[in-house]
Amino acid sequence: MDEKGYEIEDFLHINRYGEGPQRTLMGGRPRCCGYVRGNGIYRHQCSKQGKLEEGGYTWCKTHHPQTVVAKRNARNAAWEKKWNARKNAIGAAYARQCAEQKVCEIAIKCLSQEATFDELMEAAEELSRLRG
Ligand SMILES: [Zn+2]
Repeated sequence: MDEKGYEIEDFLHINRYGEGPQRTLMGGRPRCCGYVRGNGIYRHQCSKQGKLEEGGYTWCKTHHPQTVVAKRNARNAAWEKKWNARKNAIGAAYARQCAEQKVCEIAIKCLSQEATFDELMEAAEELSRLRG
């Protein structure tokens, strides 16, 4: 693995005989060295023209390793952001529920005149936190 965090070889088409990609299309234009999945178990070499260069090979826009990895990272980052927002929302909702429950418990004690001064202070703090 290099400093980019991936190997060019992972993106390269290798056929069932262990042979590397064909470098050119008919007519001699550079061919994309990436692979596509077919219906079977074997991968096929992409048939598009290679327009971008990386690692000594040519790639179409879809299979250009740097682009593929950038898209994957962006997708992962977006997912993580969404997940964290959800986790925080759940955490905040749960904290609020706990605070409300605490205030209710102290309020019940107040009504039956069993609350201590500390409990009243605690309820006041929880209430101001809930309001803010
Ligand atoms: Zn391609």
